[in-house]
Amino acid sequence: MYKEPGFSTLSVQSGEKRKKANHGITDAIHCASTFTFSDTKELIDFLENKPDRDEYIRYSNPNQNVVEAKLAALDGAEKSLLFSSGMAAICCLLLAKLEKGDEVILFDECYHRSREFSRDYLSRWGIVCKFAKTGDFAHLKAQISDRKKLIFTESPTNPHLSVIDIPQLASLAKEHQCELAVDATLATPFNLQAIRFGADYVIHSATKYLAGHNDVVAGVISGREEALESLRSLRGLLGCVSTPHNNYLLQRGLKTFALRMEQHNKNGIEVAQFLESHPKIRKVFYPGLESHSSFLIAKEQMPAWGGLLTFEIEGDRHAASSFVDQLKIPRIGPSLGGVESLVEQPLYMSYNHLSPEARAEVGITDSMIRLSLGVEDTDDLIADLKQALDIV
Ligand SMILES: *Cc1c(COP(=O)(O)O)cnc(C)c1O
Repeated sequence: MYKEPGFSTLSVQSGEKRKKANHGITDAIHCASTFTFSDTKELIDFLENKPDRDEYIRYSNPNQNVVEAKLAALDGAEKSLLFSSGMAAICCLLLAKLEKGDEVILFDECYHRSREFSRDYLSRWGIVCKFAKTGDFAHLKAQISDRKKLIFTESPTNPHLSVIDIPQLASLAKEHQCELAVDATLATPFNLQAIRFGADYVIHSATKYLAGHNDVVAGVISGREEALESLRSLRGLLGCVSTPHNNYLLQRGLKTFALRMEQHNKNGIEVAQFLESHPKIRKVFYPGLESHSSFLIAKEQMPAWGGLLTFEIEGDRHAASSFVDQLKIPRIGPSLGGVESLVEQPLYMSYNHLSPEARAEVGITDSMIRLSLGVEDTDDLIADLKQALDIV
């Protein structure tokens, strides 16, 4: 009886050729920037019949092909396209799918660079950009006009970890002839199968959990092959491709993706529960906690909620900073999803350019701390958080 392969089997085996160069179990890093033809006949055959081979590195390369096949299997998609970064993937999607007069509607907790590109750049080309309050479907619906449009959301969002009801959003999009794009970087395919829930495009910053080792920058979009064709063409024009060495690192990282996610998920829920029960913690944002506004949706559409959480400590910005400075395991830095734990105070890290009023508007408080839990042992992470809380 055939059974769908499990997620760890897919992470290791999917996309990999059974027989590789020189009998190697791993793929070679194929650095070639161009791929040659033995004679003119072979070239003409390539132009006319499009056989499955590479031509020039900006269009495709062997390491990219393997990783794209693996990512498509993980996302349950017909096809995945790799990009030089998550932002390159997002910008390419918006540019490829929208024309002058079209409209993009984003939930307002989307990654601030996605909002910036939509608001400040797409508008230059006559594309209308609107924002709806995150998760507020009535507000979103009220914004939809009869233009051709794309709805863009993240789930969960950063740093508040709001989870969007993707099936509901997908049916709303369909009802209004919109396409739906979901940035599922925080969830990953392990915790959210957005394509199966009806999203047209799923985006991941592969820099985060997919590569997983804080040493790669890449992005991916998964979806229907035909719908991705215009993105593939634009990627070939812009040249925002992921290079062979980078692709190899991503392929290597992906083999342990499911294993890593198990530990990120365990660390996430256990640390969230520990923090919530600590008297020096005012509030914890983690969708696996009953106290989170997205708990019910999160429980329904995600098996677990990853390693990112945000919390507010009792006291002011200085109390939060001295807590951060006391930590021995997490290091201060942006990004998330790597094996090493990272910590940041959003006040100083991503939102320092905003006025206090603007920060309040997007729900960033002075004593807020964002923690990206790596794959260190849960007990060690909790002990470290505990000693830092004891001191402040
Ligand atoms: C990091 C991130 C991005 C951007 O990805 P890069 O690989 O850094 O370009 C987009 N969306 C989310 C949710 C992210 O966390």
